[in-house]
Amino acid sequence: MTAEEKILLEKGKMLPIMEHFYTIQGEGGNTGKPAYFIRIGGCDVGCHWCDVKESWNAELHSLVSIETLHPFLENCPAKDVVITGGEPSMYNLTLLCQQLKSKGLNTFIETSGAYDLTGEWDWICFSPKKTAPPKSKIYETAHELKVIVYNENDFLWAEEHAKKINSSCKLFLQPEWSNMDKMLNKTIDYVMNNPKWNISLQTHKFMHIP
Ligand code: SF4
Repeated sequence: MTAEEKILLEKGKMLPIMEHFYTIQGEGGNTGKPAYFIRIGGCDVGCHWCDVKESWNAELHSLVSIETLHPFLENCPAKDVVITGGEPSMYNLTLLCQQLKSKGLNTFIETSGAYDLTGEWDWICFSPKKTAPPKSKIYETAHELKVIVYNENDFLWAEEHAKKINSSCKLFLQPEWSNMDKMLNKTIDYVMNNPKWNISLQTHKFMHIP
């Protein structure tokens, strides 16, 4: 990375965009909504079950000007844009959000909360991970708490986060995809016994879409 690129990255004028595509949001509180996804490379959280490990090394993804996204967003029939990763909160997203808002688009983000969030967000999906403690502010600002359930200990862990989250935040438990056989029925039972929670499934995987 050149010194100039480093400055543009810090300002959020350039980002390591891994991929961007129009699809259906498959999981969480906006399941079923058509949305434009922008996946930013780079993540140091290290979840062992991560299904986008190819996103981890930001250096593998070209730094591009955020303006290169404009034509795709302008031609997209949907108004919701999901910023995901990787861990997008590693980056300065202020400018990206400003540009999306100026086009009348809604800004959604999926984050572990491991870094302080920049930018203006219409929907914050907070999915905490054990390997990277979340910053405290995200408990006030999240619209959705989505806890991935890999084993039964994760129900207790989810409750720890639910205790701290703002009262209007929607609560989701999502059985981890590779452990679905073991955890789906346990998650169904847990949610039926603890109805403040909802189930989230990765429906895009059932639909074979990105
Ligand atoms: Fe993968 Fe997300 Fe965990 Fe990073 S935070 S390792 S991208 S699941």
